[in-house]
Amino acid sequence: HERVKNLHLDTMEDELLREVTQRRMVAWLAGLAAVLHMLAFFAPSEYRQGLVRVPAGYGFLATLLVLWLNGKPRWDRVMRGVILSIVAAWLGMDLFQGMRLGRGVSTWMVLDTVLMSVMLFSFLPPRAAILGSVVTYGCFLVMAWLAGGRNVLLLLYVGLLLAFAAYLALHGQLVARERMRADVLRWQVYHDGLTGAVTRQALLEELIPLMGGEHVVLMVDLDHFKTVNDSFGHLVGDEALKHLTRVLKERVRPGDVVCRWGGEEFVVLLRDVTLAQGLELAEGLRRAVVQSPRAELPALTVSVGVASLSGVREVEALISQVDAGLYAAKAQGRNRVLVS
Ligand code: GH3
Ligand code: MG
Ligand code: MG
Repeated sequence: HERVKNLHLDTMEDELLREVTQRRMVAWLAGLAAVLHMLAFFAPSEYRQGLVRVPAGYGFLATLLVLWLNGKPRWDRVMRGVILSIVAAWLGMDLFQGMRLGRGVSTWMVLDTVLMSVMLFSFLPPRAAILGSVVTYGCFLVMAWLAGGRNVLLLLYVGLLLAFAAYLALHGQLVARERMRADVLRWQVYHDGLTGAVTRQALLEELIPLMGGEHVVLMVDLDHFKTVNDSFGHLVGDEALKHLTRVLKERVRPGDVVCRWGGEEFVVLLRDVTLAQGLELAEGLRRAVVQSPRAELPALTVSVGVASLSGVREVEALISQVDAGLYAAKAQGRNRVLVS
């Protein structure tokens, strides 16, 4: 999520979809290999060799390759080449065996057509997958024909199965895409597009169940931020906001929440601390902002209001308390931490 926060929705979707397809495929191949291995124990001896050969050979190899290529650049291009090579080698070997032994299409070869088609549909765009499946299927059909029509009927039946497998694979991709879209949208609702800090919505969902407990919130406001914008431009202002967010996030503990409340105001939720501890942490944050200057930014300072959730039931009451602290800090000259 950190990685995708500044990307456009469509780009994010593509990235996430690729990741999901990858993971789905690893799971598919590993699961398939396991199931076929188990089946091989119960299969009649005439099928055993074929059943073991499939997962032990190409399925396993493909799984390893997928794992190895995971995260490499230009992954989909490389992967497509790898999958095509695997399917081509697999098909070639089947055809060679069928022709050499003169037994035409065997039952496990029929199974191969389905597996190859599933691989193609999981990795290639629909059109290429359809083309690949038709070619594979056609080769087997011709071979069955040449072998005196043996298993042609079975292959025709498998043709129906292939269409069904293709439908399921495409439908699966559609569902994955929809799920990704929902994830991306959910992420956007909970995160600010500029800074990546969480939104007010997300903060409130965390805050409400904690009301009345031994926790502290801070309202952090950049000092004279309007002057930063006016003197250096809004782009520098944006960078200052991102920088402040980074400093805050680096300093808080895991489980604490940094929220962009609005504009240049941030609310930080510090869990399980007393007011005194909260004050100390707030002072640490204020100092961290002063002590982490950036060459491309003007010197930044923040004023911080502090309030405890202890004994406070309403979020509105809490916010007006922490606000009062902030305005007192501003009134006393800024770059300081105050409780009202
Ligand atoms: P004070 O020390 O009293 O807080 O003064 P200030 O100038 O920081 O406060 P004021 O409320 O007058 O100005 C806040 C400024 O924050 C005004 C607005 O243009 C700027 N701002 C709000 N959101 C953004 C943003 O997303 N990007 C940039 N660059 N500026 C923003
Ligand atoms: Mg300000
Ligand atoms: Mg302000």
